[in-house]
Amino acid sequence: MTEPLDPGARRAILAAVDALRDDAVHTLERLVRCPSTLGNEASALNEMARVYEGLGLTPRRVPTVPEQLAAHPGFSPPLVPYEGRDNVVAVHVPRERKGRSLALQGHVDVVPEGAADMWETPPYQPVIRDGRLYGRGAGDMKAGIVSYVSAFKALRLAGLQPAAEVQMQSVIEEECTGNGALAAMLAMPRTDAVIIPEPGPGLPAMYSAEVGVVWAWVTVSGRPAHVRDMQAGLNAIKAANAIAARFEDYQAEMNKAERIHASFRGVNHPVNVNFGTIEGGEWNSSVPTRARIGMRVGVMMGYTAAQTKADIERLVAEAALDPALKGATVKLEFKGFMADPCVFDMNAPIVTMAKGHFADVSGGFLRDYPATGLTDGRFFTLYQDTPVACFGPDAQEIHGIDESVGLDSMHDITRTIALTMAEWCGVEKAA
Ligand SMILES: [Zn+2]
Repeated sequence: MTEPLDPGARRAILAAVDALRDDAVHTLERLVRCPSTLGNEASALNEMARVYEGLGLTPRRVPTVPEQLAAHPGFSPPLVPYEGRDNVVAVHVPRERKGRSLALQGHVDVVPEGAADMWETPPYQPVIRDGRLYGRGAGDMKAGIVSYVSAFKALRLAGLQPAAEVQMQSVIEEECTGNGALAAMLAMPRTDAVIIPEPGPGLPAMYSAEVGVVWAWVTVSGRPAHVRDMQAGLNAIKAANAIAARFEDYQAEMNKAERIHASFRGVNHPVNVNFGTIEGGEWNSSVPTRARIGMRVGVMMGYTAAQTKADIERLVAEAALDPALKGATVKLEFKGFMADPCVFDMNAPIVTMAKGHFADVSGGFLRDYPATGLTDGRFFTLYQDTPVACFGPDAQEIHGIDESVGLDSMHDITRTIALTMAEWCGVEKAA
C-alpha cells in the first residue's frame, strides 16, 4: 500500500497541471483533427504513438485479431477488417515497484459526424467558443485521453513519476464492438485498477452501471415491379418498416418497472431500441427490391446479450410470417456489439479515491451514473475482475451535431487523474 499524497507533492502536481493547460488544449486539437471514424483510425493512432513517445515511453502496437478473440465471451462480430489500425499501448515502468499498478484507457474512434452542413463549424476543425472546444470526438472521448496523458506529464514536470506500472491503452471500436479494448486488455498484464475518462451525461459523474448492447441487421428482399403494377410487387422498404414496428412492443416490455435492475432505478426508459440506418430501393418509379435496416437493442442488467439475440431472432421470424410479407425473404445478421451489461463497484478504492480528489479540486462531486449506453469498462469488470473508475469531462452533443467539451472541466479531470495516479501508484523521483 502507498501512503497518502504528501502536501508538497500535491501542490507541485497541481501547479504542473496548470502549467500544461495550453499544451493539453493543443494536444486535443491535434487529436480532433484526425477524422477517426470506423476504419479510419490510423491518423489518431499515429498521433497517440507520438504522444506516448513525447512522454518518454515506447509505444507498442497491439493488433486486433478476430481468430484469437472469437472464443472470448466479450468478443463481438466485426464489421470491417482490422489491417492498418492496430491499437497503441505504452507502459511506464518505475525504478522500484512500491504502489499499485494502473491502466489508463481511452478509445480513439469516433462516430460519424452526421450531416456536416448542420455543424456551426466543420466537425474535424477544432474551434474554441466560450470555453468549449467543438469537434467530433472532442468529448467522446479525446478530451479524456488528453486528460490522462497530461496527468502523467504533470507528474514528470513536478519532478515525479508513478512508483508502480502505469499502462496507457489507446484502442479502436469502442463505438461498435469493443474488440480493440478486448485485444489490448488481453495483450497486457492485469493491473490493480483502470481509469477510463469517458464523458458522463453532461454533468460530473462516475459510471455506476451500463446497459449491454446488441447490433443486428435485417435485410428484406421483396418482389420488384413497375409502379403501374404496384400491387404485383412487394415493397421491401415497407416490409422492413413492418418488421421494425414489431420492436415497439418489445421495447415497452423491456422497460417495465419489474424488469429494471436496482442499479438503474430512477432512470427513465433505460432500454432503448434504435433503428440507426436504412438503405434500400433503386428508383423512384420502381417498387424497391431490397432494403436493409441496422438496429441497436439495449440489454438491461440481469439480462444477457445472448438472450437479446434470441429475442431479436424470434421477433424477426414472427414478422416474416406476416401475410403482408408473403413472397419476401428476410435475412438477419449479427455484426457489431454483442455486449453484456455490467455494474461497477462504487466502493472500489480507485472509485472513492477519484471521487475524493475530484471534490477537492473542483468543489463539485461525481454523482453515480447508471448509463443507458456502454463503455469499454465492461471488459475489465466482467472478464478480469479489475475495478474501473469511469468518469470524464463535461461533454455535450456526443454522437450529435456540434459536439463539444468544456475546457475547465477537462482541466478538473486532468487534476483529478493526476492526484489519483500519484496516490494510487505512489510516487518516486522522475527518471
Ligand atoms: Zn466513448
